[in-house]
Order: sequence, then C-alpha cells, then structure tokens
Amino acid sequence: MPATVVAGNWKMNTTLDEARALAEGVRALAQGAPGVEVILCPPAISLAAVRDAVSGSPVKVGAQNIYHEDSGAFTGEIAPAMLGGICEYVIIGHSERRQLFGETDGQVNLKVKAAISHGLGPIVCVGETLEQRVAGQAAEVISGQVRAALDGIDAVNISGLIVAYEPVWAIGTGQAATPEIAGEIMGGAILDTLQSLYGSSSAEVPLLYGGSVNAGNIGDFAAQSCIHGALVGGASLQAESFMDIARMAGETKRAGG
Ligand code: PEP
Repeated sequence: MPATVVAGNWKMNTTLDEARALAEGVRALAQGAPGVEVILCPPAISLAAVRDAVSGSPVKVGAQNIYHEDSGAFTGEIAPAMLGGICEYVIIGHSERRQLFGETDGQVNLKVKAAISHGLGPIVCVGETLEQRVAGQAAEVISGQVRAALDGIDAVNISGLIVAYEPVWAIGTGQAATPEIAGEIMGGAILDTLQSLYGSSSAEVPLLYGGSVNAGNIGDFAAQSCIHGALVGGASLQAESFMDIARMAGETKRAGG
C-alpha cells in the first residue's frame, strides 16, 4: 500500500515572508495529520526558507520545476543538483508548464530522469484537456503521458516516484472531477500503464488526484482505493484549509479508503 501523500503546489504565489509564514503555519498543524506525507512546493526563491521553517518536522519540501541539465548557459533555469539539501521532491510536467510554457512529453521525460539521478522524487503530473475528454480520448492521452514521462526508467529507480492525475479542466476552476472519473482513470489508465512498465513495483507508487481539491471533497477522493492523496493548488495557500485536507485524507485512508 503506497503512502498517503498530500502536496501543496503554491504556484507563483507568496512572497518570501508569506512563504515562511505559511510553512510555519503548516508545521504547527502537522501533528494533526499523522501518517500523511505532507509536501510543500513553494516558488523556487522561497525553497530554502521553507526548508528552514519545516526543519525538524515531518513536513517535506518540493520544487515546482527543474531543468534537466546539470549546469551551464541556461539563464533562469534551476538544475536538480542545486536542490540537494533543500528539497526531496519536484513537480514535473504540471499542465501549466505543458500549456503555458510548451513543455513536451520528451522534456518531461528528461526532467524525470534528471530528478531521479539526483535523488529527487518526481511528482509527475498528467491530465487531459476538456476537448480530449469530450472526444473520448482521456484514457489514451493519460496512458501516453505516463508512458512518455517514464520512458527508459527502470523499476529500481522509481522508489520516490509519485504520479498526479490532474485533469486540465478541473485545475483552478472549482469544478473538481467526480471521484468516479478520477478513480476510473487512476485505477485504469494510470495503474495499468504503471503495472505494464513495473509489474508489482507499481503497487508502491502513490497516485494523487489534483484539481479543485478542498476539505469538502477530499474524503470522497481518498475513499477510492486507487487514490492515495492529493496535489492541491488554491486550497494549499492557507495552512488550515491545506492541513484539513491532509487530516481528512489520512483519516479516510486509515478507515480503509
Ligand atoms: C494544481 O495546480 O496542481 C491544482 C490542483 O490546482 P487547484 O487545486 O487550485 O485546482
């Protein structure tokens, strides 16, 4: 059974002081979500401050993006090695990066490989657009994204891997997927693809749902056996609402969800 994971993607929000305060707020509430891997993903400029704010607590830190090269003339980019000692995870292939910054499946794959080779756990995001869903292509799109992201990566290297299903139409819209839609894709296309790539090792990969998660709907998502937590955007910007989600995810999974 994979760990229960609740990760907060702060996106391009919070100043340095706000990030520190938010991380301290999460830290103060961390004991309310026992057994849940809580991960904070602040803007890169605040990573070290957030790391310091949660140091000594169970709260973990993740970056929102990396570049795949080790160093060099790549103005504005951050190499995975620079994150050593600062964070343990990195979000890769978020739909905003794919849609707004043209990130391709090939680049996602390079970044996942770079993350793994530097000891970072990749939180690989996949998700279909509304047009793709309406056209009946959701499962095919998701399988293709998972397969492409993990191309050339062996089972021995997936210990830190997390996969987040984030339908594009549900992100930041207040229109979450239904737990049934999420469960169908996660227990179907995603799990089948992971199983075909990694056999029994795939059973340890946490699968997160993302897209307008809040304290009111997390219980229904976490009640699905193939959903092991959430990647949370908007509701992660307040410590109380975020940790309510983490607490409820933990309670639901402990109750057998
Ligand atoms: C996200 O961007 O990863 C996300 C899930 O956002 P929101 O929770 O705001 O829909």
